[in-house]
Amino acid sequence: AKADGRGTKRFFEVEMDVSLRARRALEIDLREALEREEFELHYQPIYDFRGRRIGGFEALVRWRHPVRGLVPPAEFIAVAEEIGLIVPLGAWCLTTACTEAMRWPDGIKVAVNVSAVQFRDEIIVESVRAALAKSRLPPGRLELEITESVLLKDNLATLATLYALRRLGVRIAMDDFGTGYSSLSYLRSFPFDKIKIDQSFVRDITSKTDSGLIVRAVIGLGLSLGMRTTGEGIETQEQFDRLRCEGCDEGQGYFFAKPGPARDVPRMIERWSSAGTG
Ligand code: C2E
Ligand code: CA
Ligand code: CA
Ligand code: CA
Repeated sequence: AKADGRGTKRFFEVEMDVSLRARRALEIDLREALEREEFELHYQPIYDFRGRRIGGFEALVRWRHPVRGLVPPAEFIAVAEEIGLIVPLGAWCLTTACTEAMRWPDGIKVAVNVSAVQFRDEIIVESVRAALAKSRLPPGRLELEITESVLLKDNLATLATLYALRRLGVRIAMDDFGTGYSSLSYLRSFPFDKIKIDQSFVRDITSKTDSGLIVRAVIGLGLSLGMRTTGEGIETQEQFDRLRCEGCDEGQGYFFAKPGPARDVPRMIERWSSAGTG
């Protein structure tokens, strides 16, 4: 058994070497991807329950890799953050999203995800200012989605950055609400325009769990704080009906559409304009 142990150790060493090399290769590949214009944005509609129409789209980045095909953000955002690429990549996402949104019907908003790394040193303020100037998109049509990781430090610099963004006229949404451990205190520190209820709560909303009660409570919280609420990850008619009944403002999920390329945007708007949804 002891001899086996040695063998196993060597095996792991080789494994680690392989994964380390794969990781290096990914980093090099990723750095070049921006210059090679291999990134693209897909858009997922956000449905306005009261207006019964699409009110906006969330921009979700993809990497069109020449060999690996379409790579989802889960496989490269964290690495992009570690190697600092998220700053130029994030700026590219902002400018591209604003420019593409200029081609959409008037009033349709665009939401862009922003990483905590982009928040350091107020880099984000300049990126947003530049994207708005270059695209000429009215600031009120741009929404930034931030997660609790941005607010983890909860320091004055972060708050100052959020207020600087607010002064530019853009809206700010708290993404994945309820997945962190101190979500509530963040709502007290900054007046978000919107709370996005994480899909893990929406998934179980119709089953006999506490999720339904939590969703109801968050919608009530939004109402009393003057923040809009969006239910994420709606996949079924039952989830749609339930969220609408509870007074949620907006819904998003595969029930409406999966994220698609920019050319699909007009079709998605058309599909959900005064459509029969029960
Ligand atoms: P997120 O911001 O919570 O985005 C929602 C994710 O849920 C998207 O995955 C979307 O495709 C997926 N989704 C939407 N509706 C449904 C549904 O009904 N069912 C299920 N099972 N999933 C649904 P995606 O596009 O893979 O993005 C994953 C995460 O990557 C995002 O989570 C966001 O945190 C991050 N991300 C995406 N684009 C960017 C970006 O441009 N910048 C940064 N910093 N992060 C990004
Ligand atoms: Ca998001
Ligand atoms: Ca989310
Ligand atoms: Ca998420």
